[in-house]
Parts: sequence; C-alpha cells; structure tokens
Amino acid sequence: MVGCESPSRLDAVRELRSMGSCLGLERLGDLGLERAVLWDLVSADLAACDDAGFFAAATHRRQAAALMAVCKRWRALLGPLSRSWKARARPPPPKKRALVATTPAQKSSLAEKCDLVRLARYETVSLGRREAYFDVSCRPITVKAEDDMELLSDLSTWGERFLDFWDRGVYACARCERPLYASDDKWSGPCLWPSWRRDLPGAARHAPVEGYNGYVVDVHELYCGGCDLFLGHAFADARDKGDAHPDARWRH
Ligand SMILES: [Zn+2]
Repeated sequence: MVGCESPSRLDAVRELRSMGSCLGLERLGDLGLERAVLWDLVSADLAACDDAGFFAAATHRRQAAALMAVCKRWRALLGPLSRSWKARARPPPPKKRALVATTPAQKSSLAEKCDLVRLARYETVSLGRREAYFDVSCRPITVKAEDDMELLSDLSTWGERFLDFWDRGVYACARCERPLYASDDKWSGPCLWPSWRRDLPGAARHAPVEGYNGYVVDVHELYCGGCDLFLGHAFADARDKGDAHPDARWRH
C-alpha cells in the first residue's frame, strides 16, 4: 500500500515491481514490467477514456486487478515518463519523421482512426488475433503509428516471447509469412525485443531515418519486403551493444 506523504516516481516503480513479482510476472524483468505498464498508463487513448473502458477491457485479462489499482494510483507520477526510456542520455533533437499522416497509407492507418474505433479494435488484440496490430502499420511510419504498435506489441505478447528463444529456424512475417530472419543471425541484444544482425537477403525494406530519439549511429526503419508491415528499427551500434560476431554492425 502507498503510505508515504510525498511519494516519488521511484516509489511508484518500486511498488509496481513488487506487485508484478507477487503476481508471478518476474519473467518480464523490471524494465519489461515497468515499460509495459507505462505504455498503458500514458497512452493517449487511455487518457481519453475512463478506467472502466479501454483500461479494463484491454489490459485486465493480462494483468490482475490489484496491479491495475496500483497503476491508477500512481498514474500522475508515472505519466510524465512516457517516452523517456528510449533516450535518457541526451535530449532528443527535433524529429524529422512524419508527425502527421500525409500519404494514403498513413491516413488509412488505425492510428489515425477516431478514438472509439481504435479502442474497440485494441480490445480484441492478442497473439492469435492481430488484425488491429497490422492495421496500424503504414509506410513511412508516423510517430503516432509507431507508438500504437509498441503499445499493441506489449498488450499482445505481454513480454516478448521470442526474446530468450534460441531454437534453430527462420522467423517469418506475422502478416504475410515471408521469411525475414535466420536464427543464426540472432543475438542477445539490449532491447526488449529480439535482436538480429541482418535480415535474410532482400527480405526487408530499409528506410534510413534521421534524428531518431537522439541516436548518433545510422538508423533504418524496417518494413517487410512482402507486405510492408512495419518491423521496427535497425541501429548500427551492435558492437557497442555486445554482438561479438565477426559481421557485427547492425542491430535489428
Ligand atoms: Zn509481411
């Protein structure tokens, strides 16, 4: 329970971790739990609806009511953290990526639909039913769509299930099943999602992006070469992040 008179964000995070631990969520790790919860807390959608709506419908099935109660109690403190987990080392430069949808693909993204439509769709997303997730994807991706995809990724996977998965094989696009990555190119990176040093030849489209969250290395946006699903980013910092492979350079 919250007892102190002048609570800090650290108190909030500490209680969330403790509660997650009680609920058997250790496998997410501290950062995973914190981040997944934060996305729920600071989502623009969440702010626009009451607690009985999206909050309960989309997250209650995956997180116990007790954890939700902690989240709500600490929302004011946790909210300002929103995107800060990505680049704390230096202030981000002005974004050059699309903030506003201009192309037909961007405008048709779920991220641009009215709140009610989005909330209704988000409630249904799960690993086995990802249509709403795919509907957010657009090219080039907008900041809004990317935020939504990260939120949906957290909601549907509740901790990335392939992060510590090392069986041999090929990873395929979840939407069109195009082979994208080989297990031989997977390495243990610093991210909450799996890391690869390269995609299969010609498997993904690479779109260089400038000024991404303060990164000083080359950054690409990645899209499935078969269906244009936004896959994430590639950063040219793999050696610094721990890939010891002779071909180490990129972190997808
Ligand atoms: Zn695809």
